[in-house]
Formats: sequence, structure tokens, C-alpha cells
Amino acid sequence: LRQRRLKPGECIFTEGDRGDYAYIIDQGSVEIFTTLEDQLYVLSVLEPGAIFGELALVDGRTRSASARALTDTLLTLVTREQVDERIQSADPILRMLLFVVLGYLRMESTHFRRRNSPNFSIGLRERTDLLPRISQAVDLIRMESELQSAIRDGELKLVYQPILHLASNTVVGFEALTRWYSPSRGLVPPSIFMPLAECTSLIIPVGEWVVKTAFEAMRQMEQVTGNTPFISLNIANRQIEEPGLTDYLVNQAQCYGIPRQRIKLEILERTLMDSQLAPRWMEECRQLGFPLTLDDFGTGYSSLGYLNQYQFDTLKLDKSFVQELEDNASSRSICKAIIDLSHALGMTVVAEGIEQATQGELLADMGCSYGQGYFYAKPLSLGQAIEFLQE
Ligand code: C2E
Ligand code: CA
Ligand code: CA
Ligand code: CA
Repeated sequence: LRQRRLKPGECIFTEGDRGDYAYIIDQGSVEIFTTLEDQLYVLSVLEPGAIFGELALVDGRTRSASARALTDTLLTLVTREQVDERIQSADPILRMLLFVVLGYLRMESTHFRRRNSPNFSIGLRERTDLLPRISQAVDLIRMESELQSAIRDGELKLVYQPILHLASNTVVGFEALTRWYSPSRGLVPPSIFMPLAECTSLIIPVGEWVVKTAFEAMRQMEQVTGNTPFISLNIANRQIEEPGLTDYLVNQAQCYGIPRQRIKLEILERTLMDSQLAPRWMEECRQLGFPLTLDDFGTGYSSLGYLNQYQFDTLKLDKSFVQELEDNASSRSICKAIIDLSHALGMTVVAEGIEQATQGELLADMGCSYGQGYFYAKPLSLGQAIEFLQE
């Protein structure tokens, strides 16, 4: 805990300074003021418990006013990192609205100057950066309500990307990926609408729709081709947090007559870090017989500790490694090490994002058994997936 003690009259920060800290008043009192043509205007006097200086910390602009201690004062310092971390992990709509509100607060202090000094020329024009933020926030809110009706109106489609056994070039399974064809927006990528669904309870009906649709697709694949590929489903953090997903999976698997070992559940390393419920949920899946896949392995949070701690059936080697294989020797070494380690721990490896024949060959040489990527097939409609199985 970092604190700062001040004498009466001592300056805390001055208008125009870079804002590195916000402050909480523990003892004493603080005056926030601005000066215009040598004239001092008191904006507010703050007492213990109040926080100030947070504006500059959040929006990264310079201090819009000055602050000084009025009495003997004790302050607790809040760092930029403390605030950043929370903003980054906040709901995207809230984050957007926060910036809008902050913008208004800034605008008010600019107005104050304009009212009090005709010579002060900073105008609203300077705040045009606010407008895109406002429309982004409004648009996210609108998109969220559109997504609500998208499931009902059949605008969501599930596509299936083949996962192949590299040595024999045969399909062993499919990864289910969600698409949203919005009548007004066109194709919205899952990287946009999935996080949106996830920060509301919308992820639950979306997730259940994915399960049901994927199982129906598996039944058709089997009926038409006689093949029994596995399906890999992406599971979001929030789906683990809400109870009921495993029950739903068990019931639907039974209803469609699909053995649980053919239903693989993909979770991100991030989920392991963020969700306190993840360990218990994973143990439950393991006992129920759903194989678990660790997705996007190697992107940022990688910890070998996870591999030791949890029993994954499969590890997905992230496409960022795969795409550097040819011209980056250290990428090759890392891939090779991950593949060997996975095998030593009894896991299979799926390399994702294979776009060229040479990448697939290199991976197969390194002992990687499975892969997926545009080189073999893009995510396919059910009809295309069935054709692909029959080739
Ligand atoms: P992911 O799980 O890592 O899925 C792989 C992504 O890589 C997919 O993007 C896929 O279309 C793309 N991809 C496949 N092969 C290649 C390739 O050779 N090169 C390149 N550059 N990309 C390739 P997509 O479909 O846009 O999905 C993005 C992410 O959205 C997924 O990443 C997943 O995290 C999430 N997502 C998609 N559908 C669902 C879903 O139903 N539920 C959840 N929770 N998340 C989903
Ligand atoms: Ca995935
Ligand atoms: Ca992935
Ligand atoms: Ca990814």
C-alpha cells in the first residue's frame, strides 16, 4: 500500500501534468482548483473517503485541474496498472460507456473554462474523439438485442472445420464454429459477438443452440456416410460459471445417441486462469467421459503447470506457432518441445491454422498426429462436411 503525506498548501498535481496516480483521501482535506488568467477557481473541496485524479488515469489524458492539500493530509495512491487491469477485464459495453461518461466530465471542465474566460479557445471541437465512442457503445447495445432475436430467427449457423489425421490424410473429427448472418450487418465474426454474448447471460441460449445443432449434425453425418467423427465444441468461460451445461450435454448426448467420448470440449487457457470453478467443472467432465481440449496453447498465458494439474485429452497448438514454422527456427523448437511433452503426458496434439502443405509436413515430421486449417478445409456447412467425409 503506497501512501503520501502532505502539509497544508502542498501541491498534489498541477493542471496539464501526466496522470500517473489517482488518490484516495485517508485523512485531511484536498482542494481541486483551476486557474484562469491568474485567477483561482475552486472546483471542489474533498474530505476523507473521496477519490480524485482518476479521470486522467482512466482516459490517459493530462490532468484537467490542479489539486493541493488544505490541511495535514494522508493519501493512498492508486496506480495506473490497478485501474487498467480492471478496465481491460470489464464488460465491453460498460467500458465504452465509461469512456463516454469520462468524456462528458472532461467536456464540463472545458465548458467551465469557456464560461469563465472568453479568451480560452478550447472548444467542443476538440472532443470529436468522443463521438465514435458514443456510437460504438450504442451500437454494441443494439447488437446485443439483435443477437437475442438472432437465435429465434435462425440467423445463427454452425459450420464444421475438419480435423485430420496428418499421416493418412483422413478426417477424424470436426470443430464446430458459430456464424451469425445478420440481415442488417452481414456476417458478424464470432470474435465480435461471442464476447458480447459472454458478458450477458445470452451465452447460455447460444451455447445450448450450438450443442443441439452440432449433435443433430453428427447424427446426419453418421446416417449419410456411416462415419463417426468426433465433434469439438468451444466452451466459453461464462458457460462454466453458470450451472447446467454438463446436465444439458449429458441429456442431449443421450437424446441423440452420441457416445460422450465423441464430444470434445475446448477451453482456453484464459478460462483456467479466470474461472475459479474451472477445476471442479473439468473434473466433472472427466468423470462424465467428455474429453477436454486445451485450446490456443501457447498464446500468452501458457503455463506448463496447467498440463500437470489438469488431465487434458488434447492440446491445440495455436496457429501463431504453426504459421511461423517455416521461417523461424525457434518456433520449430517450441513446437517440437510441446509435441514431445504432450505425448509424454498422454495427450494428443492438434495443430491449428495449417495453411500450407509444407507446414503440415513439418508438423507430421515432428510427430504431431492431427491438424486443421485452410490447407485441408475451411469451416464447412453441414452439406459440405458430409461431402468432405465421402471424398
Ligand atoms: P478458435 O477456437 O481458435 O477457432 C479457430 C479459428 O481459426 C476459427 O475462427 C477458424 O475459422 C480459424 N481458422 C481455421 N483454420 C485456419 C487457417 O488455416 N488459418 C487461419 N488464419 N485461421 C483459421 P472463427 O471461426 O472466426 O472463430 C474465432 C473464435 O471464436 C474461435 O477461435 C473461438 O474462440 C470463438 N468461437 C467460434 N465459435 C464459437 C462457439 O460456438 N462458442 C464459443 N464459446 N466460441 C466460439
Ligand atoms: Ca477452438
Ligand atoms: Ca484455437
Ligand atoms: Ca483462437
